[in-house]
Amino acid sequence: MRIAVIDYNKCRPDKCGFLCASVCPVNKTGTDPAITMEGGIVRISEELCIGCGICVRKCPFGAITIINLPHELGTPVHQYGPNMFRLYGLPLPKQGSVVGIIGRNGTGKTTAVRILAGEIVPNLGNFETEPTYDSVIEFFKGTELQSYFTRLKEGKIRLVHKIQAVDIIRKNLKGPVKNLLPKGDRTREILSLLGAEYLLEKNVETLSGGELQKLAIAAALLREGEVYFFDEPSSFLDIRERMRMSNAIRMVLRDKTVIVVEHDLAVLDYLSDYVFVVFGEPSAYGRFSGIKGVREGINQFLLGFLREENVRIREYEIVFEKRAVSSKPRTKPYLTYPSFTASLDGFSLSVEGGEVYEGEVIGVVGPNGIGKTTFVRALAGEIETDPPLNLDISVSHKPQYVELPPVPVRELFKDVNEEIFEEEIRRQLEIDRLLDADASTLSGGEKQRVAVALALSRDADLYLLDEPSAFLDVEQRVRVSKVINRVMAKRKSVAFVVDHDVAFVDYISDRIMVFLGEPGREGHASPPLDKRRGMNELLKFLGITFRRDPHTGRPRINKPGSQKDVEQRRRGEYYYE
Ligand code: ADP
Ligand code: ADP
Ligand code: SF4
Repeated sequence: MRIAVIDYNKCRPDKCGFLCASVCPVNKTGTDPAITMEGGIVRISEELCIGCGICVRKCPFGAITIINLPHELGTPVHQYGPNMFRLYGLPLPKQGSVVGIIGRNGTGKTTAVRILAGEIVPNLGNFETEPTYDSVIEFFKGTELQSYFTRLKEGKIRLVHKIQAVDIIRKNLKGPVKNLLPKGDRTREILSLLGAEYLLEKNVETLSGGELQKLAIAAALLREGEVYFFDEPSSFLDIRERMRMSNAIRMVLRDKTVIVVEHDLAVLDYLSDYVFVVFGEPSAYGRFSGIKGVREGINQFLLGFLREENVRIREYEIVFEKRAVSSKPRTKPYLTYPSFTASLDGFSLSVEGGEVYEGEVIGVVGPNGIGKTTFVRALAGEIETDPPLNLDISVSHKPQYVELPPVPVRELFKDVNEEIFEEEIRRQLEIDRLLDADASTLSGGEKQRVAVALALSRDADLYLLDEPSAFLDVEQRVRVSKVINRVMAKRKSVAFVVDHDVAFVDYISDRIMVFLGEPGREGHASPPLDKRRGMNELLKFLGITFRRDPHTGRPRINKPGSQKDVEQRRRGEYYYE
């Protein structure tokens, strides 16, 4: 079976002279052409296409994807149109449970949820005629989705949706937060579960990304519905806030049906009762697995093989190092800094002196507003310190919140040194296919990849990357880890990577710096510590223990009060058994 997909945002037959048709060997035979034009729109016949891939390589705008499927997928649940994305299978919501969805961006998670919400009536791959629920109900006959769609048809299901791009709230709403939420004790109660009662006194325009996230979650929890969908509820929240968010969702929506898309594996694991894995080719097709236990589902996803479906979803396994100490040799000190203090807008920071080595990636952990950015700005000489540092170093910084101007992505890279904007960065972060797009219209994950590539492509002594994992899927997080590590090793430079996804920090870092204190008032920074000590310090402060999954090495949060939790606390081993 073969799938041919055209990205109509990129396809410009007027500019290329309909090149794909003229290079296609089937078209050249002169009988039945595989590539045709219908009303100015290019079409590729999947029946006639022989899968040679010539048009894919020749198209100047990278608009064509041809996939030779290794396995039969059956009838799609929905296809947007000819040569467009199609979705196979659906995640079945379960009342009284949280189901997590894990999988790559662009494989149909949002499409599935829009179908379950009744926003899209699935067409079962027949986009010629108007779809009806009756055929969908017939299609799912004998499964639990039959009764779901019957209730959806009768208008008995209301879905509440926490959107992914929380910054839209700031763009669309103005004024005091208290005017946006229902008045009353329930609102205060829910905000306090999220540690965010203080938001009521603020204006939307002044909120940080993390605060917008908490506002969006609170607003969803306050709405009445049957099915609740949370699209990436972790972004911009620190670890403690991620735990609070998870506990709030579980507690408030105990009897409801909850669906969560989340790429922070420790959070997905902690929050969900079951998971569905979605796999496929981004923008071309996606297929949902059957329901799986959380541990088993996440492990199958990481190992790249779905046992019940008997499908390999990736060529390689994603495994975490089980050792707590980096294998990178610490040979040459790159930068040594003394203990110092810095003050800024009523905030004070004290830093214990430390040393970093050539090629190291230092994970930086701690709550929001604790001075992580202030620390790096102090090293760069942008802030006065006591004693003065005079290190004379330059820093390339990727901020936590990425905003890009409305210009083609290519223009953003026009001043970077081509040698530094190297092939590895372009390839791993998949930048080339974004070069002609308007930067301001990219998705959250695409903006993040561009911002990381830009930061790594500047010549600097130190690199500071603030929450590079936000909006990236797990595979992309792994690639970002690899590219940052390789670029640092090659340039013999050092990166500080601030992040709140524990599995990602574990994966990317050689050592860890821990920031503790009182957000917005005072912060204390440890020197770079080995991972075991660093994580122990942070988790002890937060009161959370982690264990390692024996198969994949991934960190898993222990249930508070469980035997493992109690025993690890007693031994003072918050991170490793
Ligand atoms: P995910 O949520 O997993 O990132 P989506 O469901 O948003 O994936 O999108 C999957 C693919 O479906 C996208 O890459 C896009 O190509 C396509 N798509 C989404 N919405 C539409 C639409 N309204 N019309 C045509 N194609 C769409
Ligand atoms: P981090 O990088 O750890 O988020 P910064 O170095 O940016 O922290 O933060 C310390 C400074 O930032 C303080 O001056 C404080 O006023 C301000 N700040 C940033 N975020 C917050 C927040 N969420 N709450 C309170 N203060 C904050
Ligand atoms: Fe031209 Fe590519 Fe469109 Fe074919 S798919 S018409 S080669 S832009």
